[in-house]
Amino acid sequence: MEEKEGILIVISGFSGAGKGTLVKELLRRHDEYALSVSMTTRAPRPGERDGVEYFFTDGRHFEETIAADGLVEYAQYCGNYYGTPRVWVEEQLAAGKNVILEIEIQGALKIKEKFPESLLLFLTPPSAEELKRRLVGRGTESGEAVARRLARAAEESEGVEAYDYIVINDTLEECVEEVHRLVDAARRAPARRSRFIREIREELNRLAKGVQV
Ligand code: ADP
Ligand code: 5GP
Repeated sequence: MEEKEGILIVISGFSGAGKGTLVKELLRRHDEYALSVSMTTRAPRPGERDGVEYFFTDGRHFEETIAADGLVEYAQYCGNYYGTPRVWVEEQLAAGKNVILEIEIQGALKIKEKFPESLLLFLTPPSAEELKRRLVGRGTESGEAVARRLARAAEESEGVEAYDYIVINDTLEECVEEVHRLVDAARRAPARRSRFIREIREELNRLAKGVQV
């Protein structure tokens, strides 16, 4: 049986749209996904563990990692650095996993440039009011930080045309399956099945040579 090739999936969306919640559920339901753990200089939120939600570090170490070409991409967001460690992503893709990067828009654009076959999804709640409700309801940011994230969301809404699909996170259940269907369809695009096409072509040529006419 032929193995489907894994793809690189970027999931972006306004802070509070539900990216973390969605990705956790996608990983729980389907085993062909792997989530990249980013490095950040932001302080951990209550309950966040080093090496699980993020690799928490300081600015100096982050900049050393950039200099050593240890990140596939990085960006600054609301005053902190965030970046994707290179080696792990490359290993998982080679192993055929669908690798998820949960990153903001500047990083997403860099990924599309470096990996044109990546799939860019933009997650949004059904309305701005609902976004504010979720951000406030999460209770992890101060009033000022919520305001900063809402202002940043307005800026980010300018860049959504760069994405392949917009996904509305209204009911979580439906949203998870919609994302899975989009990924499944994307994996069938010829540009993302180059290895399969190459192998079947070689096999066809081999068989054709062996046939007596
Ligand atoms: P993000 O990772 O995009 O910043 P989170 O996953 O932390 O967002 O979600 C923000 C808040 O919204 C959380 O409290 C989460 O429980 C809630 N949430 C996520 N998805 C939904 C949904 N479909 N309906 C209602 N609340 C949701
Ligand atoms: P938060 O502080 O809410 O965890 O994340 C803030 C923003 O940074 C989110 O939009 C999140 O997707 C993004 N982010 C997380 N990791 C990375 C990363 O490695 N690179 C980039 N470019 N953005 C990231």
